[in-house]
Amino acid sequence: MKITDIQFEKMTFTFHEPFKIAFAVIEGYDTLVVKLSTDEGLAGYGEAAPLGFVTGDNLDTALALGQEYRQMLLGQDPLAIARIHQLMDGAYAGNTSIKAAIDMACYDIAAQKMGVPLWKYLGGSDPEVVTDVTLGMDTPERMAAKALEWVEGGFTELKVKLGEDPGTDLARMQAIRKAVGPHIVLRIDANQGWDVKQSIRMARALEPLDIDLIEQPVPDWDLEGLRRVRDASLIPVAADESCHSPMDAHRLTGCVDGMNIKLMKCGGIYQALKINAVAESAGLFCMIGCMGESKIANTAAMHLAAATPNIRKVDLDVTFFAEGAQVRGGFTSEGGRCRLSDRPGLGIDVDF
Ligand code: MG
Repeated sequence: MKITDIQFEKMTFTFHEPFKIAFAVIEGYDTLVVKLSTDEGLAGYGEAAPLGFVTGDNLDTALALGQEYRQMLLGQDPLAIARIHQLMDGAYAGNTSIKAAIDMACYDIAAQKMGVPLWKYLGGSDPEVVTDVTLGMDTPERMAAKALEWVEGGFTELKVKLGEDPGTDLARMQAIRKAVGPHIVLRIDANQGWDVKQSIRMARALEPLDIDLIEQPVPDWDLEGLRRVRDASLIPVAADESCHSPMDAHRLTGCVDGMNIKLMKCGGIYQALKINAVAESAGLFCMIGCMGESKIANTAAMHLAAATPNIRKVDLDVTFFAEGAQVRGGFTSEGGRCRLSDRPGLGIDVDF
């Protein structure tokens, strides 16, 4: 099979309400959708959803590089995924969003060629995945009310954005736990907002609230800091912004209890599988998360989650906040319980 064309289209999504995390307020997002065509009539979709302060690229650089990769990859076999990555990485380091887009389009085509959904192509046996939903930062009262709203909507797992002053953050978690009761899974993402000592103090103060994990408490470069927090905390500690590649995963073993994989950070499913292999070989769990992306990338990540037992925590919630009419199909959901279809490939339709 040969790649005959790669086309690009920008799409814009607006959040129903602004979303606040430790280092930004996000009102919406643009993504770059990729359509990869082949000489066998199969077409695959992918998506680049850069978040500059995490991935170091943006939509314009993703598009510029996408055009270069188009020239480089025309005539290549989309099933030769190792070769595709070798060519992309050989030309440019980093720039993982556009690599992820081309990667997931290749996997879409490969699974279609086999006549199976991507979750089955990747070795999965169960198309159901339970995701959490994320609470942005607000007053403790408003966050508790929002938490209850999600729980009443059928969600059993919540991820809470923290990373401001520890006193306010603790009040937020106390209010949320009180509102949702003891049986809802609560995990925390501090988005690098605390230092090591604040993180250790918070981990101890949060212990009675039965917290599932603390994600990226300290700055991304501070692996030793992560290790110190992990060693002092009875709550599991996970890396997110510190983990972009299989090599990062290797460096993180011994520093954390788990790692958050995002297709946009690592360059797609091919690299995500390697990160998971490194983590699993060190006895660490993986979770999977998302950026400001549409149902294309979110569904690709869902397929990976469904097929990968060591991805034990799922945070694929962006389409609950903003859904575009341009993208249809993909997973369906009832509360946090998501289900992938039996359609071959990603199972996504795009107005392109
Ligand atoms: Mg995170």
